[in-house]
Amino acid sequence: MELSNRQEKIIEIVKDNGPITGENIAGKLDLTRATLRPDLAILTMAGFLDARPRVGYFYTGKTGSELLTEKLKKLKVHDYKSIPIVVKEDVSVYDAISTMFLEDVGTLFVVDENSCLTGVLSRKDLLRASIGQKDLNTIPVHIIMTRMPNIAVCKKADLLIDAAKKLIDRQIDGLPVIKETDHGLEVIGRITKTTITKVFVELITDNHV
Ligand code: ADP
Repeated sequence: MELSNRQEKIIEIVKDNGPITGENIAGKLDLTRATLRPDLAILTMAGFLDARPRVGYFYTGKTGSELLTEKLKKLKVHDYKSIPIVVKEDVSVYDAISTMFLEDVGTLFVVDENSCLTGVLSRKDLLRASIGQKDLNTIPVHIIMTRMPNIAVCKKADLLIDAAKKLIDRQIDGLPVIKETDHGLEVIGRITKTTITKVFVELITDNHV
């Protein structure tokens, strides 16, 4: 987050004089306590300062990047997952390609009659199947998909950073978010490279730090 000049000054004062009361910080800046209140609230919420009742403000000693790391480690898959686009195993390659265009996604998840995961279809899987094939209406996707148990998945309670690491390690574009059920792994969401890119931008622009 971008700190204002005044907020930078407050941090310097607290670094040099902490613990120090809001009243005394205000005195050093020739401002009233009321004027300073929003700045102190922001700096405390962002983690630069710590406030103890009847003692005053401390400098936490955390740098912007340390605070960013702390924030990142709190983000969960649950809060960022988007709706999964799924197809059944007997759908044709032609229909899967149509679904990919209509839904504007790059990865489809293949499920059985219980909405449980059986496979994944990426753009390249469908391209590969299309090369030289005359009738894409007759090839069911279960013939060409990447199938269980070789599919990388995540759960809603997982950290987003761990899901991002899986995308990198496995060199894939998306992960299904799954819930374990008696029938198998039910697909309840998806995390993609787009999800991670959005979070990256949001962290910088939305004063999340
Ligand atoms: P693209 O085909 O557009 O490069 P990916 O990099 O996501 O897209 O896919 C590469 C291969 O990995 C494909 O064969 C695909 O079926 C497979 N794949 C995609 N997602 C997963 C996943 N979550 N787990 C295992 N394999 C996957």
